[in-house]
Amino acid sequence: MKTYDAVIAGGGLIGGAIAFELARAGLRVAVLDRQEPGREASWAGAGILSPAPEHAGMVPLVPLGKASLARYPQFVADVEEISGRRAGFRPKGTLEALFAGDAPEELSTLVALHRGMGLACEPLRVEEARELEPALSEEVQATALRPEEASVDNRALTRAVLEAARRSGAEIHAGIEVVSIWREGKRCCGVQTSKGKFAAGHTVVAAGCFSARIEGAGDYAPVSPAKGQMVALRAENVSIERVLWSERIYLVPRGDGRILAGATLEHAGFDKRVTAGGVHSILDAAIEIAPGLREAEIVETWAGLRPDSPDHLPILGPVDLEGLLIATGHFRSGILLAPITAKLIREWVVEKHTSMDCERFSPLRFLETKSAARGCASDAGP
Ligand SMILES: Cc1cc2nc3c(=O)[nH]c(=O)nc-3n(C[C@H](O)[C@H](O)[C@H](O)COP(=O)(O)OP(=O)(O)OC[C@H]3O[C@@H](n4cnc5c(N)ncnc54)[C@H](O)[C@@H]3O)c2cc1C
Repeated sequence: MKTYDAVIAGGGLIGGAIAFELARAGLRVAVLDRQEPGREASWAGAGILSPAPEHAGMVPLVPLGKASLARYPQFVADVEEISGRRAGFRPKGTLEALFAGDAPEELSTLVALHRGMGLACEPLRVEEARELEPALSEEVQATALRPEEASVDNRALTRAVLEAARRSGAEIHAGIEVVSIWREGKRCCGVQTSKGKFAAGHTVVAAGCFSARIEGAGDYAPVSPAKGQMVALRAENVSIERVLWSERIYLVPRGDGRILAGATLEHAGFDKRVTAGGVHSILDAAIEIAPGLREAEIVETWAGLRPDSPDHLPILGPVDLEGLLIATGHFRSGILLAPITAKLIREWVVEKHTSMDCERFSPLRFLETKSAARGCASDAGP
């Protein structure tokens, strides 16, 4: 049996970024993935790097998102240099388009809300927006530019991060399923897998929406899958420079000329089928924001499973079992949050404290909810 400083269950972008960070800190690291690493949510995502919250419940995530976005240029530079691969990073901002009749008032609210959270957001005249993005529909009533946002080719990035981790000394194992946490008394000693035990001083659960299926991890990481369908388009007459965003759709440009359109948000268990209804709703909204896409070729469709948590916030940090850490539940922002997640896990492992307050994201919050619920149940009893 081999012994490591850190074993990571799951080789998606999160597990890969943690492996890269820990290996560069001098730790002996193994990543275990039950299939080819990097083929789940980190492959399926759109790669938008936006710390802007989609609703009030996501506001606690803004500081983490901003910190991660700030790390992105250096993260990509390091990954590209060490892996010898490109990651398709595009720091060109996001253009948000509003359609409704009351768009001007909505625009002022939008700009004020973003600025209140320290996020750059500039109102643009629609004509100015169309100079930047000629593909924008004539029906758009108001626009705002979020100049600090970016996008990345998450498939390319994930491959590059795993390669950079490997070149930094981490072992990346495909085809090894982590079955359970290996627990001895109050300590986690590693993991039990389909290929035997792996011993480690630190064990990190980063298995995306599958994390709760690992025996012994479910109470700390009660994640579930949130399906998202996507469509990739190629159009002779339409090209976009930056992410285009509306209430119904986002369009993300790739370096090879494809435009990604997405995404649905469905609670459909572990089902990854692409459906007629899903593709229809994506195409309808894509053509609304960029009518030239009506002539576009559909080059690919796919679906992936976001790791959602009960409060839709990430689950990060150590638990009450010594040596075990959780890094999952990144839901719609795991591509954005990979650099900061890796940094925080390194700080917990190496420095025993973090440079940011992460209490809000502690895996122990779910244990507290559970024991409170148990308390209520017994209070109500005879
Ligand atoms: C359609 C869609 C669009 C998205 N768009 C964006 C976006 O624009 N921006 C953004 O920031 N985020 C986006 N996301 C979210 C983002 O993709 C995820 O939050 C992120 O990829 C999660 O990464 P992960 O490494 O935790 O999980 P995953 O990438 O799912 O990786 C988990 C890995 O664990 C492995 N595994 C599972 N169980 C086991 C086991 N028992 N043993 C060993 N290995 C195991 C799996 O094989 C997999 O490789 C999107 C997601 C989807 C689906």
